[in-house]
Amino acid sequence: MAKFENFKCAICDEHAETFSSNGDYTHQDCPRCGKFKISGTLEASLHMRKQNAQKDHEVWVVIAKLSGWVRNMNMLGEVPIKVPMLSSQELDKILEMPIPGILERANRFLELASRSI
Ligand SMILES: [Zn+2]
Repeated sequence: MAKFENFKCAICDEHAETFSSNGDYTHQDCPRCGKFKISGTLEASLHMRKQNAQKDHEVWVVIAKLSGWVRNMNMLGEVPIKVPMLSSQELDKILEMPIPGILERANRFLELASRSI
């Protein structure tokens, strides 16, 4: 895998380590979202959404949900066994999920904390 410098996270635009792959996806390691793979199609569609962000406030909800989903998958220990793959089909599923509330996030954190004791 070739590594690219100065790449932004496809989800949140944070500077992220980015690797190419042979398939139609990019592997990224974002300090905010975590590790994930994103399909070329979804990456292009997210880029389009962000360009229309001023008109489309929904885009921030999409970003929050995607970023949250990746963080969750990383926390659940899917990495490095399986890096979560974001595809357009996956996006539809993620968008159907409610935005995790602060309480839920706190509970999840406590759950993880108790597991590591
Ligand atoms: Zn990110």
